Amino acid sequence: MQVEFHENGIYLPAIRLWLDNTNPCETTWISHGHSDHARGCHTQVIGTPATLRIYRMRLWLPDGQPEPQTQPLEFRDSLLFNGATLTAFPASHILGAAQLLIEYAGERLVYTGDIKLRPPLAGDTTQPIPCDHLIIESTFGLPIFKLLERGEAIQRITNFARECFAAGDTPAFIGYPLGRGQEIVHVLCQAGIPTSVHGAIAKFIPVYEDHGYQFPGWQPYDAKATANKALVVVPAHGSALEASGKNVRVAYVSGWAALDNARNRSGAQELIPYSDHADFDELLTMVEKSGARHIDVVHGYTAPFAHILRTKGFSAAAPQRGSDRSNIEAEG
Ligand SMILES: [Zn+2]
Repeated sequence: MQVEFHENGIYLPAIRLWLDNTNPCETTWISHGHSDHARGCHTQVIGTPATLRIYRMRLWLPDGQPEPQTQPLEFRDSLLFNGATLTAFPASHILGAAQLLIEYAGERLVYTGDIKLRPPLAGDTTQPIPCDHLIIESTFGLPIFKLLERGEAIQRITNFARECFAAGDTPAFIGYPLGRGQEIVHVLCQAGIPTSVHGAIAKFIPVYEDHGYQFPGWQPYDAKATANKALVVVPAHGSALEASGKNVRVAYVSGWAALDNARNRSGAQELIPYSDHADFDELLTMVEKSGARHIDVVHGYTAPFAHILRTKGFSAAAPQRGSDRSNIEAEG
C-alpha cells in the first residue's frame, strides 16, 4: 500500500485516509488525545471513544464551521472504510491511545502512533500486532534510554512522597497535562496520599474516571494550602514552586530523566525515568514481534533508530516529512 509522509500527517491514497493529520482534511484517524495529534477541524475523524472526547475538548470551531463527524472505534473492534478494514488496538501511551491496523488488498499495515509496550500506570496494556508494514515512533529510540517498569515507578513515586513528608517537605511531581499527570495522581491517590492537582491536569481526570480509573481524595491545587499534600503540577509551575522559597522538593517523572544531565536540565531533586513512550528495548521488541517486512520510523530519533534497525537486518527507513513537526522535547 502506498504511504505518503507529509509534514502535517501520513496519507494512504488508496483508501483516502489520513493518519494524525494536523491540518483540516476529509477523514483522519487520530491515534490519541495529545495536542500535536488531536487537532484540526476535519470533516470526519475516527478514533477511540476516549480520544474523540479529548479531541472535542480541544476543538475550537470557527463561526459557521460544522462539527466534525466522529466515528468511534473501540479497542479490537473493526470498521470497513473505503475497501479497507480498520482495527484499533491499545497503545498504552495515554488513555484511549490506539494503534491502527489497516488491512487492504491482502496487506497488513500498522501505525502505532505514540506507544509503549510496558503496562502503564493507568491505561490499557498493548501488544505488538503482526503486520507486513510497520510505522512506529521512536521518541526514545537510542540505547541510552532505559525506563522503569510500572511497579518500580509506583514504588519510586510513593516512596519519594513519603520521604518528603517524613522530612517536613512538600513533594511536587512534574507531570504533563494529559497522560503522565493523571497517572501520577492515580498512583498517589491509590496509595492514600493526599494529593493536590494543578487545573491543567485536573481537567482530564473526569475522562479517566469515566473509563474506570479512581482518584480517591484528590483536591484542586491551592497555593495557600500545600502542607502535608503531594502536589502534581505542570512543568512551568514546577519552576515557580522551586522559586517560592517553601520546603518543596521536586520530582521529574519523564523519560528524559534517564539522561545524565537531567538534573541540570530539569532542576529537579528526584529523577524518576518513567514515560508514556517506549524505551529503546521496548521499541526493538515491538519491531521484532511485529514480523514486519518493512519499518518506517516517524517520530523522535528517527534516523538513528532506523539505522540501528538496518544494522540488525531489518528493512527500515526514516522518511523525510518536510520540516520535522515532532518536537521531541515536548513530551516524553
Ligand atoms: Zn503523545
